[in-house]
Amino acid sequence: MKSLRERIIDLLMDNSLTAKEICNLLDLEPNRVKEVYSNIEKIAKIVRKKGLELMVMYPRCKNCGFEFSKIKASKCPRCKSERIEDARFMIR
Ligand SMILES: [Zn+2]
Repeated sequence: MKSLRERIIDLLMDNSLTAKEICNLLDLEPNRVKEVYSNIEKIAKIVRKKGLELMVMYPRCKNCGFEFSKIKASKCPRCKSERIEDARFMIR
């Protein structure tokens, strides 16, 4: 049985996914999305040791286009919109 982290790594190989999509694909309860985010942070270091790279497309505000510099965002600091496009991750 693979660990959650290993299963996330498998999913992200050449696939760009959001944390929510990973939750759905792994049949996790939606409230475990936080766990997925914290695993992703550790995955960045793990895959680097294997000579791979975790690519991150940072979240973006759908209203004004503001780009975040962190992987988790819920509200835009510029226009206060909560219509945020989630970060996408991929391992290459
Ligand atoms: Zn905005």
